[in-house]
Amino acid sequence: MLKESRREIAVGSHLVIAEKKRVKHLRLRLDSRTGQPYLSVPLRVSWRYATSFAQSQRDWIDQAQSRIKTDQRFPPDYAWHENLTVFGRSYQTRYELAGRPKVFWHSGQLVYAGPKTPGADPEQAQRALLRFYRQELATLVDLLLPYYAQQLGVEAKSIRYKRMRSRWGSAQKTTGALNFNLELARRESRFAEYVIVHELSHLVHADHSPAFWQTVTKVLPSARNLAKALGDSPAPLGVLR
Ligand SMILES: [Zn+2]
Repeated sequence: MLKESRREIAVGSHLVIAEKKRVKHLRLRLDSRTGQPYLSVPLRVSWRYATSFAQSQRDWIDQAQSRIKTDQRFPPDYAWHENLTVFGRSYQTRYELAGRPKVFWHSGQLVYAGPKTPGADPEQAQRALLRFYRQELATLVDLLLPYYAQQLGVEAKSIRYKRMRSRWGSAQKTTGALNFNLELARRESRFAEYVIVHELSHLVHADHSPAFWQTVTKVLPSARNLAKALGDSPAPLGVLR
């Protein structure tokens, strides 16, 4: 059987799942149920070319996703692939036989160690991958959040990382509780930085008033551009609260 190679390509706030296939032409399509974009890549076409093609189709993906009804959205796919995206960059993956399922870095690659291959136990691999993404995102948040909290004069009382389909993050002004979408671990880190500032600013202003945006842009001048590039939610049509 033909060995098919898959990877994820970051396109703005989207992740396109690309797959090498015996096809004649590049073909981009959207799963009509989940809104997930898929790209079929002919074997002769390089990943570099496929990536620039996918990136040139960003407007098309935006428009196609906006036609999918809100109630049909599902959380993003966290399956194990031959290449996986961490903070907007694609990394090769490999498998090691081991007793306890775990995902870790080794020499610039992502390793899944477990008693069975990711293909033989996809749910186990996904759980390990989600733990890994949580760790990566928590490390970045621990690095950036204290600085911005100090700049804004606020304190985050609790931080949680969750799979959410319609929000990048949320904040509760009264309790100081923040939630971040795990999906931020797959997008460029500048987006996580923006969502950190956005949610911390909600500890100052609960709404999205001009005063709120003034607070946001005071500490992160590029916030409005980042907000536009990121989009409102991992799935289309959601809102950032
Ligand atoms: Zn908000």
